Amino acid sequence: MYLYARYMSYSQIILNKGKETSPLRFHPWIFSGAIAKKDADLKEGDIVEVFSSQKQYLGTGYYANGSIAIRLISFTQATIDENFWFEKINKAYSYRKQLNILNPVTNVCRLFFGEGDGASGLILDYYNGHVVFQSHSWGIYLQKENIVSAIKKVLGSELKSIYDKSAETLPKQFSEQAQNGFLFGSEAEVIVKENSHVFKIDFIGGQKTGFFVDQRENRQLLSSYCKDKNVLNTFSYTGGFSVYACAAGAKLVHSVDVSKSAIELCNKNIALNNFSNHEGYAIDTFDFLKDKKDVYDVIVLDPPAFAKSRDSKHNAVIGYKRLNAMALKLIKPGGVLFTFSCSGVVDKYLFYNTITAAAIEARRNVKVLHYLSQPADHPVIPYFPEGEYLKGMVLWVE
Ligand code: SAH
Repeated sequence: MYLYARYMSYSQIILNKGKETSPLRFHPWIFSGAIAKKDADLKEGDIVEVFSSQKQYLGTGYYANGSIAIRLISFTQATIDENFWFEKINKAYSYRKQLNILNPVTNVCRLFFGEGDGASGLILDYYNGHVVFQSHSWGIYLQKENIVSAIKKVLGSELKSIYDKSAETLPKQFSEQAQNGFLFGSEAEVIVKENSHVFKIDFIGGQKTGFFVDQRENRQLLSSYCKDKNVLNTFSYTGGFSVYACAAGAKLVHSVDVSKSAIELCNKNIALNNFSNHEGYAIDTFDFLKDKKDVYDVIVLDPPAFAKSRDSKHNAVIGYKRLNAMALKLIKPGGVLFTFSCSGVVDKYLFYNTITAAAIEARRNVKVLHYLSQPADHPVIPYFPEGEYLKGMVLWVE
């Protein structure tokens, strides 16, 4: 007699022979070319179970009409319901608590980081009890209700609001079906603490989810190089690095961002922390750098992703080289350069080589003080190296 399993049954996908090796190694993406058989009426976002050509179960995920056809969110058979999401989000939250990422001096972190926490397409940022939900795929968006219930259960009375900010991150054809807005609560005035420094978060009007949570440890490291120095923080956004530099006793700190509203918020954050030795400039970094030779001892370059896809990788490398060569030419002797790239398609080795090329072009002798990456609340799992997107170098410039 056929025994019903305790999980729901989903549409089944059969892979081509040999294509099971990737999911067996826990890589969560299945490309469309790997699929041998699927139901004809499969819709974007449908939950599916994936099997090898030998009918071995490989994983459960959601379907998309694209080159990445399935994103696996479980490697054991499961029903994708509120309880499934509760377990996933609770695990992510407990991990961060165990690592003491949320602590008396820091109440902001990434609560859920896509594949790094086991669900491609789902980003949750935690801002002192407020959660910003950002879905990067229609499949995750369809799970919104379950995810919201799960967040409520995980955070309990600690939860103040949940804000959906998926309209900009969903694939274009779905973005019109999504509207940003509160899914729970309504408080938009949010102040967070990061290593004791306070920041105002504008998750409604700001870029991404409102704050670049991934630079916390790198900002802390910057502190140790700033005492009595002239510091330039380019692509400053809301002034994360600038606040740390002021707090560390910099002589002066200049923040540069092309966005006027970013500089306004940066100025507010400087004031919130009671610093005054700071100036914000709403201008393009490349223009700002043109005539600033021998002014700065410490420079931070944290541009937006110059490459969003493989097609733009070459131009991105040219951009990183030009930017870094400019900064290296004008930094004072004995200066320190913090330089970053968050382009996923530019891997760390290509980035290191690009910075080397920039140093050669600038004719400056440099030493590598640190290689930097993303913090533990943006976990990289070895089965999914694509998740390592943030890389940085700290250079001593003779
Ligand atoms: N370092 C920041 C995050 C940087 S995000 C932090 O720690 O929070 C990238 C920023 O670069 C955005 O605020 C964007 O407005 C800005 N930007 C993009 N192109 C720019 C340009 N050409 N010149 C100056 N700023 C730019």
